This record gives sequence, C-alpha cells and structure tokens, in this order.
Amino acid sequence: MKLCSKLIHEGKVIIMEDLRDIKQDADTKGIALLVEDNEINAEIATMQIKELGFEVEWVANGARAVERFGETPAGYYSLVIMDIMMPVMDGLEATRIIRRLDKDDAATVPIVAITANAFPEDKEASFENGVTAFITKPYSKRQLHEVINNLLGTGVAEN
Ligand SMILES: [Mg+2]
Repeated sequence: MKLCSKLIHEGKVIIMEDLRDIKQDADTKGIALLVEDNEINAEIATMQIKELGFEVEWVANGARAVERFGETPAGYYSLVIMDIMMPVMDGLEATRIIRRLDKDDAATVPIVAITANAFPEDKEASFENGVTAFITKPYSKRQLHEVINNLLGTGVAEN
C-alpha cells in the first residue's frame, strides 16, 4: 500500500504518490485537509502530517478549503490544518464559514490554525472564529505532532 496525497488545483485533482511503501497493516488515521498558500510550506507540512499516518489533501487558499470541505461527506476529513495568511480568502474567514456549513461535522472537525501572528489578540481572534488549536510559525515538527496527537489521540511516538 502506498500513501497518496492529492493536490487540488483549479478543479483538477493531482495525485502525488509517496514513494515510500508503508506497511499493509498500517492503520491510516484518515484524511487531513491542508490549507496553505506557500508551496514549500505545504510540502513540508504534508510530509510532517503524513508521518502521523494521515493522507493529506492540499488546497492553496481558504475559498478552496470551504469548497472542498463543503462538497465532501461528513467525516471525510479527520483534521484541517489551516494557514491564516492566504490570498483569495484567509484562514480565519474560511474557518468561520466552515463552522457554519450545514454539515454534521462542520462544528466538530478539528481545525489547527498556523500563523505568523503571535500576539494574544490574534490567538483570541482564531478561537473566536472557530479554530480548535493554534500553532505559531516557525513551528517544529514535534510541536505540530503534539498538537495533532492531543486533538485526535493519535499518539504516534516521535523518533
Ligand atoms: Mg500563508
């Protein structure tokens, strides 16, 4: 079995196959929606999230995240990783809209905000808009893994 991640770009789904074979019996943790406008950051985050056993789908702005979350069935995504500063629609607005969608998991899907803004009021604004947890850039892989593990109880040991 191979892990795949999908890049959804301008309506096209591009499957990016991870060349590392994973064990057949590895239990996947589900699919994470990664919302990040910077391609390099997205590649790094994709690898880091995959290490926890998730498949990753990447979209490059908040509007695409809302669209993608809205068109998939409830429970399709286990987790959303949301950059805040993005063109077209930022992460706070996207989170606010996702929370109000008429979907069973709209209010409950964990949304982890990633932002360069470390001021307390930014954190507060994130939570007011429906963010579940908050990570400040630059962040370490360990920090990201800890936040995800705490939210989802995925408990993958660090190397
Ligand atoms: Mg950004």
